[in-house]
Amino acid sequence: MDLFEHQAKELFAEYGVPVPTGKVAHTPQEARAIAAELIAAGSSKVVVKAQVKAGGRGKAGGVKLADSAEEAEALAAQILGMDIKGHTVHKVLVEQGSAIAQEYYFSFLLDRANRTFLSICSVEGGMEIEDVPHESLGMIQISPLDGVDLAKARELAVSGRLPEAALDGAAELIERLWSVFVDEDATLVEVNPLILTADGKIVALDGKVTLDDNASFRQEGHEALEDKASADPLEAKAKAKNLNYVKLDGSVGIIGNGAGLVMSTLDVVAYAGEGLNGGQRPANFLDIGGGASAEVMANGLEIVLGDPDVRSVFVNVFGGITSCDAVANGIVSAYALLADRGETVDRPLVVRLDGNNAELGRKILADAALPGVEQVETMDDAAARAAQLAAAGA
Ligand code: GDP
Ligand code: MN
Repeated sequence: MDLFEHQAKELFAEYGVPVPTGKVAHTPQEARAIAAELIAAGSSKVVVKAQVKAGGRGKAGGVKLADSAEEAEALAAQILGMDIKGHTVHKVLVEQGSAIAQEYYFSFLLDRANRTFLSICSVEGGMEIEDVPHESLGMIQISPLDGVDLAKARELAVSGRLPEAALDGAAELIERLWSVFVDEDATLVEVNPLILTADGKIVALDGKVTLDDNASFRQEGHEALEDKASADPLEAKAKAKNLNYVKLDGSVGIIGNGAGLVMSTLDVVAYAGEGLNGGQRPANFLDIGGGASAEVMANGLEIVLGDPDVRSVFVNVFGGITSCDAVANGIVSAYALLADRGETVDRPLVVRLDGNNAELGRKILADAALPGVEQVETMDDAAARAAQLAAAGA
């Protein structure tokens, strides 16, 4: 899960990482009140920053400085509702303005390829990291066993060629940032820019944090950080039903058991959907997992059919521990369950059953003769049929 800048900075502050004072506003009036407070407390400038989970807000006009509360209100009115890289701005962060002497770059991240943690530091910050000249990047692998103490943190700052005047402050900040990274189970903490202020302080002026969702079971506070408002409604509904669902933008609904099988189903459907079938693509990822009970199947069908873009559904099951007859019974009961819920399956379903007890599963489905359900034996043929049906339904 990615955090908003203001959430990242709130976490930073908890760990003693210096950040500018500020608050979130949802309306221009709120922005004005916060700005007035900051100015009364001694800020000569305030900054109004779009809160969207996308980089390059500055370039897009989503970060603006104001000299007065009135101006902050006017800027907030401009920025709220703005579209930045496909994200609508629903809130702004209003902060004390900083007098910047220099902008640096710093991050800790999980380096999956090398199976280690990595720190990246550069004296050149503020721009996108991809644009920082490679020779000015200090990249140092961090052993999770050794971690980062103050001496190590200083070494990381030196690796990015930070000037002498910035080293003490940067080392202190970096050490604390490491605590954020480890204690919060983050896979990324990025500060860009990390600034040296005109009066010699080191401050995190921006913050990007990605939390590892696999650690949510031991991070009680993280659920509160979720952005429920802007989650896709189908994804949110699926999550509430404990389904592993990701909305995509095609027309062929996908239900499979096992993440690997579902991934390859997406590929096969995308391939089958090319050309002849008018560019049909997968509408979603949905892994119903091992124990595909009738209820799980019904929930899955309900979510997939809840997507109005879906014109056909491909159920691709390889029987393993859960055998095909159980899955076939699950599909039959799912139709009954959906009927009880007052929902009809109004789009064609292509089912491919293979693996453990496939014969019996196919017989159960054939005997049930559910309306709109077709069985196809191989994955490729089933994908092609589902794509064809989706194209015909267009
Ligand atoms: P991003 O564009 O989404 O990465 O947003 P940032 O928070 O990094 O802000 C973009 C740029 O705006 C920074 O690199 C700074 O140059 C500038 N900026 C942000 N806050 C302030 C501030 O308080 N004072 C000044 N002078 N510039 C700021
Ligand atoms: Mn930035």
